[in-house]
Amino acid sequence: MDEVRAQERLVEWFGDVCQDVHGRLAALTDGEPASYIPELANVDPDRFAIATVAVNGQPTLLGDHEHRFTIQSISKLLLYGLALETHGRDQVLRRAGVAPTGDPFNAIELDDALHRAPNPMVNSGAIAITDMVDGDSFEERADVVLALFERYLGHRPDVDDAVCASEYSTGHRNRAIGYLLLDQGIIGDRVEETLDLYFMQCSILITTADLAMIGATIANNGVHPVTGERVVGPKVARDMLTVALTCGMYDYAGEWAYTVGIPAKSGVGGGIVGMIPGVGGIAVFSPRLDEHGNSVRGIRVFEELSQEFDLHVFDADQPWNP
Ligand code: GLU
Repeated sequence: MDEVRAQERLVEWFGDVCQDVHGRLAALTDGEPASYIPELANVDPDRFAIATVAVNGQPTLLGDHEHRFTIQSISKLLLYGLALETHGRDQVLRRAGVAPTGDPFNAIELDDALHRAPNPMVNSGAIAITDMVDGDSFEERADVVLALFERYLGHRPDVDDAVCASEYSTGHRNRAIGYLLLDQGIIGDRVEETLDLYFMQCSILITTADLAMIGATIANNGVHPVTGERVVGPKVARDMLTVALTCGMYDYAGEWAYTVGIPAKSGVGGGIVGMIPGVGGIAVFSPRLDEHGNSVRGIRVFEELSQEFDLHVFDADQPWNP
């Protein structure tokens, strides 16, 4: 069998296994949708989608893959890449380190010794990173963020205005974090504008298919598999993957790295995106969350796929690299 046929067989096998996993895990109804704002609590909890996009652009789409949901914390990974690309590692590391915290994502904490946020995936680090988005006004900076998403998605995304307004009116804890960052001189004094931007980036609407495309782009060294556009440089993509592996799954990140071993980022909207370097992106959407804020079905999907295909980054015998 030639190599191309072998790859095709592998993709078929992957599609079949995803279908089986999707069918079986639909029965899993543990967990509850996020409830800190009514817009998230009111989602249909049974929605369930799995999407994958290989680095050659080939998709596998299952279930509610066209349903749009808010990206929430997954946006932190993309903004991190933007900051690295625009300002370089040194500037970024001055604001946020790369140490997993084991604490909740919204903990009000800084690395006091190093005078920065612990990492860019907790809110303190994410807000410090969002502050780095260039522009002279909210509109200009929002445009930079939406243009970034456009490069990943291949189209300009919409923002869920109702979610954004709710994030804004209930975001007192994030406001406290923003002002702590200002007090510590980690960010400048346009705190409210930066928080508006942060609430907006969390409220960007994506589908599970979009999310898999984001994953595939990062897994493809930063090159979009379909448009061929370079979205981030290879070293930036590598930094994004590293931080995703160590800090991407809230305070479950250590267990995730151990059991699943796929660089990934999750959001309280119910999405999880995983990146298999050099292979592709996997995305799952299911709004019922566990106590860490991760999608219950999403975790199970990744556990099963990781086991079935030896997708843990430290597995020596991945079928993708015969
Ligand atoms: N908008 C949420 C917050 O910052 C993001 C939550 C998340 O997905 O972790 O509170």
